[in-house]
Amino acid sequence: MKAHKCSNTYVAGAIIAFVIIVMACCVGFYSTSIIDTHEHIESIKKIPILLKADDEHKISTTILLPTPTETLTLNGDKSFTNYRENTDEIFKIVEAYPRRFIPFCTVNPLESDALQYVKHCIERGGKGLKLYNGHSYYYDIFDIPLDSPRMAPIYAFAEKNKIPVLYHINITKYIDELERVLQNYPELVVSVPHYMVSSINLDQVAYLLDKYPNLYTDVSFGSLEYMAAGFRRISKNPKKYEDFINTYSSRILFGTDMVLSDSEAKNFAFMNNTIECYKSLLEKRNFECDLVASYYKDRLNENELCYSQCKPIEGEFCKSLKKKIDVNKKRYLEVIELNGLHLHPVVLEQIYKNNPLRFLNANS
Ligand SMILES: [Zn+2]
Repeated sequence: MKAHKCSNTYVAGAIIAFVIIVMACCVGFYSTSIIDTHEHIESIKKIPILLKADDEHKISTTILLPTPTETLTLNGDKSFTNYRENTDEIFKIVEAYPRRFIPFCTVNPLESDALQYVKHCIERGGKGLKLYNGHSYYYDIFDIPLDSPRMAPIYAFAEKNKIPVLYHINITKYIDELERVLQNYPELVVSVPHYMVSSINLDQVAYLLDKYPNLYTDVSFGSLEYMAAGFRRISKNPKKYEDFINTYSSRILFGTDMVLSDSEAKNFAFMNNTIECYKSLLEKRNFECDLVASYYKDRLNENELCYSQCKPIEGEFCKSLKKKIDVNKKRYLEVIELNGLHLHPVVLEQIYKNNPLRFLNANS
């Protein structure tokens, strides 16, 4: 009787193990919760719906990056304002939800108390640093090279204290300056997000990852225009991006970069759909992403409306609109169904959790 029971247990155990292996290998099963390493938020008001969206998608922890008003509202002002107020707001959020959010700090490198401010923010509990001066928009405002002596004390402090830096840099434009920074501060841990703003130029991203072991990137693309273009680019050539991610699987971080301003448009549906789209891109072979499809459909509709009012119909402006409509149609058709990367669960675990923990220096 005993032996019989035991053999049943054995059989049941074997079946469960087999099911787990099949799920892990074939269904995209991964056991871990997810760390989102790249988010901006204007105020604590949006936190309950963000948490609802995060819970839907197993995101347990989110890094919050202090953000100037110009990035939150895209108001076009050539300035860098209210980042300290937004930092205070982030600390308020972390105090209210300490298990769910990790605060970073930021700084205006031109201010005379820049280093003091960074030190104070880290003492207050900041776990990393977000820098904006490599973003083309702010590069012009700050008007200093990435390897400027003004930045030196900030890099030195971050390197010495193992403070990770999330540094938005378009490497197609500023690679030489970035390389000088990485060579001068070899222990500095840096994530240059959005495939280093160069998903079109993966060879250059690979070159930097090969050369600098403390360098990371993330899978976010930024605002909808860039997200749509990035998803379309990957969908057209998924094997190339799958190979890239598999090769650099220990250096890629999950991030969504939804830039959650107080705007009505940044609602639960937007958050839920964005997270779903990014996860589907990584996990599935084929998927639909309504945000991306709608983006191209809206451009098509706008241009078709303009064309319908276009006079004289043979004029140059109307002809150029017709060409745009053809491009819009082609792009829309390309994104109705998208190709994803269908990454192995082990690689997903790295991107979702192991790499973010290492980036945050929480693994040691
Ligand atoms: Zn961002």
